[in-house]
Amino acid sequence: MASAKSTFVPALLVIDMQYDFVHGSLAVPNATTIIDIVNSLLALPFATKIGTKDFHPPNHVSFAATHDKDVFSKITIYPPGDIKEERALEQVLWPVHCVASTPGSAFVEGLDHKALDSVIYKGTHPEIESYSAFQDPWHLATTELPKTLEGLGVTDVFLVGLAGDYCVKCTAMDAADFGYKTWVIKDAVRSVSEGGSEWEEMEKKGIHIVDSAQVRKLVT
Ligand SMILES: [Zn+2]
Repeated sequence: MASAKSTFVPALLVIDMQYDFVHGSLAVPNATTIIDIVNSLLALPFATKIGTKDFHPPNHVSFAATHDKDVFSKITIYPPGDIKEERALEQVLWPVHCVASTPGSAFVEGLDHKALDSVIYKGTHPEIESYSAFQDPWHLATTELPKTLEGLGVTDVFLVGLAGDYCVKCTAMDAADFGYKTWVIKDAVRSVSEGGSEWEEMEKKGIHIVDSAQVRKLVT
């Protein structure tokens, strides 16, 4: 009798483990404490290990300096050339961070980035913010990520990295929307703000919140 063994093809997404998010202009609290855990997960036999980088032009729409406004104030953004009320999104204005090819955009020292099979760049268009590594918030375009995962027959997407309340959450939500069984490894994630609703929002979406010890048993 043929075996009914179900397919399990896990991918690890390492979100934005970059200098500026760990030590630099937009340092996430306690981000250094997850580097060793992320490295230990990078040593597991995932079918593929993909890093992401926030990689902005110097005049990016998400920078307070671009608008001559205060850091952490908010503006309304629209898709380029499509200023319609139903397309409006609220944008937090950040300090200048992860400018493409500057030291701030490099993978943080100590991260075993050589274990990554590929890197996805996001936020590269001056007028488009993209917290998700899959696509921009208006779904104008996707990155290479959906094609890469599909090409490898990935069934399960595991996420670690920074920041839990922005890029990890948005990428996890999209992973679920793209049909992947999605897992966020909580002890390998740090958020900008404490006590936010990101874990609840992800669980509500059917995303599995796990810890690295559980993942070590799943991916062997
Ligand atoms: Zn950014």
